[in-house]
Amino acid sequence: MLLAYVLGSVVAGLGMQFAIGGVIELLYYRRGRAGAEAWKCQPARWPSAANRRREILLGAANMTVASMASGAFAWGVATGALRTTIYFDRGSGIAASVGLTLAYFLVTDLGLYAAHRFLHRPLLFRHIHRWHHKFTSPTPFTAAAMHPVEFALYQSIMAAPLFVLPIPLVGLVGVLLYQNYVALIDHSGVRFHSWFPWQPPTQFHDDHHVHFHVNYGQNLGLWDRLCGTWRRHGRRYGKEVFGGRGEAIGGARDEGLVDYSRAPRIGEEVRSATERQEASP
Ligand SMILES: [Zn+2]
Ligand SMILES: [Zn+2]
Repeated sequence: MLLAYVLGSVVAGLGMQFAIGGVIELLYYRRGRAGAEAWKCQPARWPSAANRRREILLGAANMTVASMASGAFAWGVATGALRTTIYFDRGSGIAASVGLTLAYFLVTDLGLYAAHRFLHRPLLFRHIHRWHHKFTSPTPFTAAAMHPVEFALYQSIMAAPLFVLPIPLVGLVGVLLYQNYVALIDHSGVRFHSWFPWQPPTQFHDDHHVHFHVNYGQNLGLWDRLCGTWRRHGRRYGKEVFGGRGEAIGGARDEGLVDYSRAPRIGEEVRSATERQEASP
């Protein structure tokens, strides 16, 4: 019984990662390679072969271990061995269930923002989060490619509210699938714009991999707007510019927040001669 939950969870986790990653790999990175100016967030920068191998292996290893933990967690919930606040009945009513699901989404997304921003402090960045930032032109396989401690931290943030905040099972599964999907798409390197107004286009997180200490949000752009860590025009960002707000450029005028709703879309030709091929670290 426990084995079935663990195996099922690993198949689902890896299946989603490789299904979405595989489709994008085939449609864009293989078939569309020659016309990358029309779809790629960074048309002139490509991951090295070594980085491709590293992100696929590290991401798959993390996903396997995390899915095993999720499977064991699900088994604990199903058998009653774990006393969580997840509920299965419809007695609470639709409005309460939707509200509680929304609360879970907001609380965990804020937790992910705070944890990610915390990992950008100099010491933690150099020892842990730098693993994820080796990939300066992300692909869907970059989404789970990080230090195992970082992956475990994010998973704990998703699990912690399940012991205090009541949430319907269907809402929980929906949030987890949505967050996983957004993580994969945000790293795709393809210029997707979301149907949902609260979710910035993929260029937002792609820029996080280009400029490092800025744009920390996972699903919502809200926290970056509120906390001043949304990328601004007229400021300098980079690997050594910590703090999330960049630094002033002498003589430059601050022109306000970058408007990602106007980021290039698929089909618009963008050329960038200054970017370079990613070097193998
Ligand atoms: Zn980061
Ligand atoms: Zn990332």
